Amino acid sequence: MHIDTIAVQALRDHEHGAVVPPIHLASTFELDPATEDGAYAYQRGSNPTRAQLETVIAALEGARHGFAFASGMAATGAAFSLLAGGDEVILSASVYGGTYRFVDKVFPGRGVTGRFVTDLGDLTDADFTEHTRMVFVETPANPTLRITDLRRIVDLAHSHGALVVVDNTFMTPVLQRPLALGADVVVQSATKYLAGHSDLLAGTVTTDDDELAETFALAQKALGGVLSPFDSYRLIQDIKTLPLRLERQQASAVEIAAHLAAHEDVARVLTPGSFSEAEAVLHASQASGPGAVISFELAEGLDRVAFLRALRFPAYAVSLGGVESLICRPATMTHEAMTPEDRAAAGIGDELLRLSVGIEAVADLVADLDQALAAAR
Ligand SMILES: *Cc1c(COP(=O)(O)O)cnc(C)c1O
Repeated sequence: MHIDTIAVQALRDHEHGAVVPPIHLASTFELDPATEDGAYAYQRGSNPTRAQLETVIAALEGARHGFAFASGMAATGAAFSLLAGGDEVILSASVYGGTYRFVDKVFPGRGVTGRFVTDLGDLTDADFTEHTRMVFVETPANPTLRITDLRRIVDLAHSHGALVVVDNTFMTPVLQRPLALGADVVVQSATKYLAGHSDLLAGTVTTDDDELAETFALAQKALGGVLSPFDSYRLIQDIKTLPLRLERQQASAVEIAAHLAAHEDVARVLTPGSFSEAEAVLHASQASGPGAVISFELAEGLDRVAFLRALRFPAYAVSLGGVESLICRPATMTHEAMTPEDRAAAGIGDELLRLSVGIEAVADLVADLDQALAAAR
């Protein structure tokens, strides 16, 4: 089945012939007094609506197990709950700012070491020690859109007994399926493309590994950062249009990137694969499209604040993946938790802007960018 069909048809046969699933709000469920057994007992452990969403999430990814959390960071936190004192994690330098914050502020108290590597493409056997338990990858990286070879990282990590966790937020399973490339765990901020309307916080974890799945079920039950039935229902509905939205957003992003790259008032444009021909080939081998986030810098002498003020459509706000276009400055807005040195090493310049392309008519977006560039001159 194609993913467009899975997104709409993964759940069928609801009570009364309803074509959308019900919302079960109960926090607790009656048990059989003799066996003290029941399909559900208490909402944190599991509930019918979240279970339905988790079925959809697993189906999209082609995974054995799916889990829904209250935010992308709760999902990443669940993946990091696999780590114990003494363990070491290798991460790409330009991971999501919140992931950096977790490594910087939470790992030390847990005795876990996070090691940032500027270019995961340079990773070799020598980077692994007996303590390396996990490699955490974001490809395309945020906001530089650099590409990491997932198959190579999987081979390398597995040969050293380390797990590979991929944050697939920018691609979604529509464009990239890391589990099929050998990754052990995929985490996503469903707040972004999966929800798609900038009005809901959610995170997902998927895996094919039964043992890891037990750990994630425990993370839901013991740490408690689960998605509510209401938001689970909304996400089930939002996911139905994910492939459609992303197709439109991606087509517009490709057009806007080409327009900006040819514009004299734009110094450079970053897209997945723009760093080098090798990365372009690599991305094409592991993903089916560039997605809808692009980064760019204005030409020297242009007034950034005037440009951003003049924009009519992209709101100057963090986040991405919604139907409305958003623009932000990663150095001060999404990656402010990084030290200036770490930002510089990761290639996140102070003037870099990140544009998340929405579903507005691309002609309107291009005209808006053009008039704002003129205003900034
Ligand atoms: C937003 C984001 C997260 C965190 O997700 P929340 O839902 O905001 O907690 C993690 N990774 C990436 C790549 C993101 O863009």
